[in-house]
Amino acid sequence: MIDYKLFIPGPINVSEETYRSMGTPVMGHRSPDFVELYRSVQPKLQRIFATEDPVFLSTSSAWGVMEGSVRNLCSKKVLNCMCGAFSDKWYDVSNRCGKDAGQLKVEWGQHIDPEDLRTALSSGEYDVVTLVHNETSCGMMNPLVEIMDVLREFPDVISVVDTVSSFSAVPIPKDELGIDVLLTGTQKALAMPPGLALLSVSERAMKRAEQVDDRGYYFDFLEFNKNHEKGMTPSTPVIPLIHALEHTLDKIFAEGMEARFARHTRLNDKVRAWVSQNGLALFPQEQYASRSLTCVKNTRDIEIAALNDALKKEKKFSIDGGYGKIKGQTFRISNMGDESDETIDELLTAIDELLPRFLPS
Ligand SMILES: *Cc1c(COP(=O)(O)O)cnc(C)c1O
Repeated sequence: MIDYKLFIPGPINVSEETYRSMGTPVMGHRSPDFVELYRSVQPKLQRIFATEDPVFLSTSSAWGVMEGSVRNLCSKKVLNCMCGAFSDKWYDVSNRCGKDAGQLKVEWGQHIDPEDLRTALSSGEYDVVTLVHNETSCGMMNPLVEIMDVLREFPDVISVVDTVSSFSAVPIPKDELGIDVLLTGTQKALAMPPGLALLSVSERAMKRAEQVDDRGYYFDFLEFNKNHEKGMTPSTPVIPLIHALEHTLDKIFAEGMEARFARHTRLNDKVRAWVSQNGLALFPQEQYASRSLTCVKNTRDIEIAALNDALKKEKKFSIDGGYGKIKGQTFRISNMGDESDETIDELLTAIDELLPRFLPS
């Protein structure tokens, strides 16, 4: 069992209350009790997605529905916007699904430029675009509003937006922005255990799926929709996590969405202030830096792995030592989920205490 608290950007710390909400006896997934649970979370999900489209529950991690989106929606060619580990991998996944795929690629930490997207789509060869809103690997948040302004100019192109680490942390009004498929997972910004993915699919996207072959079964949008109409999922879902979801949604509405967004911004500002006070820097440009986590450029040659070990052992906190090719050159601190001024202060104070031991002499 772990005896330290997670400040890594996913999976993140889960509250005792949320764990307790999962301890409800399992029910038959074709029973009226389940239909009642499914139908009670649906309007709450639509409210938080800011959509009138259905929100499907997929028993998988986010990658299940990320792959599923490509399989359901691409009949010509998919354009993968690539700016970090998760968005880069989506290109690999598109290829592995046998789809013709193109790249709109920038360096890690750079944002996707809406003008470049317009140029790429003007070729007319694409019918799907994938975008990672918040690139967790490098703490960069894409300019979603400006990107969606461009995407709405191309009504034959279906947009798929991954908000795994930004959902409920910043406003993402699905219908207003015209996002076709908005997807997220539970273990990051929603502060739940892993195992459930949520996706809302537009009517346009559903029509496209009807015309695409080889959608498979487990992630078939038509199967999701057919079962949704009966208040059910295609196969046996992870019922304990649906109870946790209901609990989490109620908690979010009790705090208030605006208050939740403001709390994330305030806590993120606190981490950013700590970064500059310590002579460190943000990895992405400040204008495009994430609001749910901070990716810090290790400009002082801190021994990150050793610092993190000491933090775990002595202070019972864990941060992230950097993702993939920028491991060690960067480190990441999450402010997603249930964090408060108090918990962020505790973490930053603990790092301050240990830091001198891990700087070059
Ligand atoms: C973590 C993450 C994923 C992958 O999620 P899984 O739940 O591991 O499938 C995808 N996209 C982003 C932006 C993420 O942060």
